[in-house]
Amino acid sequence: MSHQPVIDGFEFATAGATQEGKLPLAGFPRLKDQLVSDAGDVKYALRGVLDARGRPSLRLSVRGSLHLRCQRCLGPLTHDVDAEQILVLAGSQEEIDAEPAGVDEPDRVVAGKEMSVRDLVEDELILALPYAARHEDCEPGLVCGASQGSGYGICQCPGLPAPVAPLESCYDAEAG
Ligand SMILES: [Zn+2]
Repeated sequence: MSHQPVIDGFEFATAGATQEGKLPLAGFPRLKDQLVSDAGDVKYALRGVLDARGRPSLRLSVRGSLHLRCQRCLGPLTHDVDAEQILVLAGSQEEIDAEPAGVDEPDRVVAGKEMSVRDLVEDELILALPYAARHEDCEPGLVCGASQGSGYGICQCPGLPAPVAPLESCYDAEAG
């Protein structure tokens, strides 16, 4: 399936067009490094709007679950993303650079005739990543082998579907 949804930015925005769909997580090369598993899809909805100042913009919402690795116990961690963002279109990078960046300013993006929806969604997902992915209450003390960098970790956080590896197999792996 090589079909990539693309939009003409300004036309999409001024026409108030909408597009929604699903994209496989496996199709996001920049996000992949962060994921324990790239199984699953994210849903997106894109709508052409005008921002508070009447500028053509895209309102993008993304929803899905990312499978990250807990930075503390190295167990799998499901991070639910439900984000919405307004991207104000610009004619060129110079136009964006000329404007002072303010904390309250919406994000700008250079409009194109063939903007990749996948890239926009991937940007949004990367923005939604936590700075440091961690379970709320896991114990680094339960990690077996992980502290030695062997990559084996056990998380006993409640609600986790399964530990990464049983303790015995960690011992086996370290002994072997
Ligand atoms: Zn954890």
